[in-house]
Amino acid sequence: MDYVKMTCLKCGQGNRAPKDKLNDAPKCANCGQPLMGDKAVDITPQTFDKAKNLDDMLLVVDFWAPWCGPCRTMAPEFNKAAQALKGKARLVKLNTEQYQTVSQKLGIRGIPTMIGFRDGKEVFRQSGAMPAQQIEKLIKTHTR
Ligand SMILES: [Zn+2]
Repeated sequence: MDYVKMTCLKCGQGNRAPKDKLNDAPKCANCGQPLMGDKAVDITPQTFDKAKNLDDMLLVVDFWAPWCGPCRTMAPEFNKAAQALKGKARLVKLNTEQYQTVSQKLGIRGIPTMIGFRDGKEVFRQSGAMPAQQIEKLIKTHTR
């Protein structure tokens, strides 16, 4: 059977979900949290590092901050895209005000910035707020 490796976005536990059961809302073996939620959740830099390197599925991070107007405009759009792409990519958020070193390390100059990761590598980067449809379209060009 084929498995998909996914890091739990809540507790950081590495999980293996059967590929043909991705539509049955797989849960974390450690904390019981759904591995794929209906909206983009905020993650910590620790979980980000783990998920970026371990996950088989494309991980798309929206780097944002509470003071950033365009970020707040984009949040519901990003959630809509997360819902539409469920099972194809995981969309998460990282608060750059709370975790400034992460955005420094990645050389992020403006927010919102979306970065897609697979196998520990950056596969695309896009700055600026976008509507859900555009986000979905962009991410789809990078999913397997
Ligand atoms: Zn968990």
